[in-house]
Amino acid sequence: MKNYDIIVIGGGPAGIFAAGFAAQHGAKVLLLEKNRRCGAKLLITGKGWCNVTNSETDPRRFSAAFGHNGKALLTALYAFGVEDTIRFFEQRSLSLKIERGGRVFPEKGNASDVQKVLDRFISESGVELITSCSVQKLHSNGEMLTSVETSSGQFSAHQFIIATGGLSYPATGCTGDGYRWAEQSGHRLVTPEPALVPVHLAENWTAELCDLNLKNIEISVRQNNRILAKRFGEAFFTRTGIGGPIILDMSAQIRDALKQGSVELLIDLKPAVTTELFDKRLQRELASHSNKVFRKSLSNLLPKDMIPLFIRLSEIDPEKKCHSVTKVERSKLLSLFKELRLNISGVDGYKKAIITSGGVALQDIDMRTMRSKKVSNLFFAGEMIDLDGPTGGYNLQVCWSTGYLAGISAASSSL
Ligand SMILES: Cc1cc2nc3c(=O)[nH]c(=O)nc-3n(C[C@H](O)[C@H](O)[C@H](O)COP(=O)(O)OP(=O)(O)OC[C@H]3O[C@@H](n4cnc5c(N)ncnc54)[C@H](O)[C@@H]3O)c2cc1C
Repeated sequence: MKNYDIIVIGGGPAGIFAAGFAAQHGAKVLLLEKNRRCGAKLLITGKGWCNVTNSETDPRRFSAAFGHNGKALLTALYAFGVEDTIRFFEQRSLSLKIERGGRVFPEKGNASDVQKVLDRFISESGVELITSCSVQKLHSNGEMLTSVETSSGQFSAHQFIIATGGLSYPATGCTGDGYRWAEQSGHRLVTPEPALVPVHLAENWTAELCDLNLKNIEISVRQNNRILAKRFGEAFFTRTGIGGPIILDMSAQIRDALKQGSVELLIDLKPAVTTELFDKRLQRELASHSNKVFRKSLSNLLPKDMIPLFIRLSEIDPEKKCHSVTKVERSKLLSLFKELRLNISGVDGYKKAIITSGGVALQDIDMRTMRSKKVSNLFFAGEMIDLDGPTGGYNLQVCWSTGYLAGISAASSSL
């Protein structure tokens, strides 16, 4: 049986960083990936553009985006933070740019350029990589792990790093194997759930606006007349509902609220102006089209594709002259712009989830090293840990930071 200092299981961003940095610190490293190539999920990140990190460079503010678990991330962020990530890619000739919401993307390239940088990093660091190799079982002597059984044979090592990701987008290879092994070796698991998911709506008209991108809007989540969450930004309709960053970021609250009863969304298409001011704008618009038919009056106020829907929902006769639109009709139209109500019928599952929330409990990991508190030669990295952030590059940064820390910690234990 071939022996290594460190075996890393899972060739996603976290596993690649763990393996590469461990090897750079002098360890003999084997990286095992079940797909034909590393980073399958990476290729679909950021709609194919890969939002590699967020421009929030202050570790405290960055970690605050992860809620009450965020503090646990601080050591990893101080070890390898946002600026290190940016330097890592730029030093390897992939320049980056910052977009809306601090999202950091490749300036010219896309996700496959990020994948190429990572491929080069693994080979230049001297990592031995076996792809199309599924790890099936971990062996232990009762106290420590000793070897892994895989579809390509058995390998032994002094230290092991599990970075097998979560359960979302199972077609990318994420089938929760790491969760199973963690539980079997005595770690507590915070129940994994699909997170950052689009929501389904009861309204049957969303398909006609499929992929229409709405920018600079505000969406509130309401239950029993109480606003549970509110976000400003971007969203788009899907065939069965609505998605996009602001919906994904509120999806956990929506999922929890649905367990208590019905939930609705209120879309404000004109959040920069008050209802009173927008009413004046509507009046001006109708007056300027006074002798024209109503259906021709909304082009300055709405994306073209949305106009037929608004005419239908307003119940104003499309052939009516604008000067004869009544105050009651205008007020209904106004409420569509400022408070378009949508009824949520459910949230998507793992097939469409950007990440999996929950995972290996932070209490069972020494977050200063990423070492397990239950098995002394085992380390964890990436999405499989109970850390889930919002959209905007936060989740990949978790992989870079925890992958780096797990890699150098395992390397210093094995030398
Ligand atoms: C559509 C989509 C878009 C996203 N966009 C962004 C974005 O723009 N920015 C951002 O920050 N985050 C984004 N994310 C989230 C981000 O992709 C994940 O957080 C990240 O990939 C997790 O990395 P990881 O290394 O922990 O796990 P993964 O990337 O899931 O990698 C785990 C690897 O382990 C392998 N593996 C699993 N089991 C075994 C086994 N038994 N044997 C061998 N190998 C195994 C898998 O094949 C896989 O390659 C997106 C996610 C999705 C689904």
